[in-house]
Amino acid sequence: MDDPLKTCPICNEPCDVEFNTLGKKGCARIKDSSQRRQNRTVQPTVGQRVHIECRRDYTNDNNIEKDLKAYVLDDYTRKLLYQQLETC
Ligand SMILES: [Zn+2]
Repeated sequence: MDDPLKTCPICNEPCDVEFNTLGKKGCARIKDSSQRRQNRTVQPTVGQRVHIECRRDYTNDNNIEKDLKAYVLDDYTRKLLYQQLETC
């Protein structure tokens, strides 16, 4: 079993290259983004490794908004599909 501290909390892949080790502040930032995202929550711990790229993507304000919009759209599309199925 992989060491959970060496697993990226965002993509759940092992962090061997290009990672940061999360401090208190980094953790708080990711948790904050996690709350805003709703659909992609992560639970990082202090001392946990995170990919630099994952972290940048995940905490980027523009990305969060884009993802949230995509999520809402997905939900809407799903509902439409269900309605179609029901009327068949
Ligand atoms: Zn990652």
